[in-house]
Amino acid sequence: VLVANDVNLGMLGEARRGAAKGAREAVGIFVGTGIGGGVLLGGRIWEGHGSRAGEIGHMRIARDGPKCGCGGVGCLEAIASRTAVERAIRQAIEAGRPTVVTEVMADRSGKIRSGVIQRAARQGDEVVVEALTHAAEALGIGCVNVINFLDPEIIVIGGGLIEACGGYILPTVAEVVERGVMPGARPPCPIVPAALGDDAVVHGAAIFAEERLAT
Ligand SMILES: [Zn+2]
Repeated sequence: VLVANDVNLGMLGEARRGAAKGAREAVGIFVGTGIGGGVLLGGRIWEGHGSRAGEIGHMRIARDGPKCGCGGVGCLEAIASRTAVERAIRQAIEAGRPTVVTEVMADRSGKIRSGVIQRAARQGDEVVVEALTHAAEALGIGCVNVINFLDPEIIVIGGGLIEACGGYILPTVAEVVERGVMPGARPPCPIVPAALGDDAVVHGAAIFAEERLAT
């Protein structure tokens, strides 16, 4: 039995058949309820010494940022996940700011899903666009750190929030990266949306098994 982490498998899928096809040094960032990451070095998934590598969601972005589920503070996931965007929107609602989210949300007590965030963003909702921009800036800082540290060929950004709202996030990520990387890293590596969606993990699992059994 072969065991592998689903985010790593998703990254492997994107690297062989998706948005990073053909790349040997690539990083994937997947933004949903949390933020997962995968690192491809020399064409292979980098699992790390204790098989814990790729936890890009727990890269520290702010010294005194919001608390994270991991026990730390200021993690990328605590600032830029769909959960963090949802929290920012709720705080704005509680502060009395007008937002169409309260109208488009079918069940007010329920989760603010990516689809609801997308619909509100399309309507130009100030609260939502602001929350997405804030998340995008943190993702941009995460990418700057990744580029300066690993010098990848390409960065793939995917996950539910990106599939729904990538158009409101990726341009800001690109701007932050353009300004933020070391001079030697300009122009920065391409940052592209994932191509395989939920299928990336299935593709990755097939590729992982095939490649491991072949060696
Ligand atoms: Zn964390």
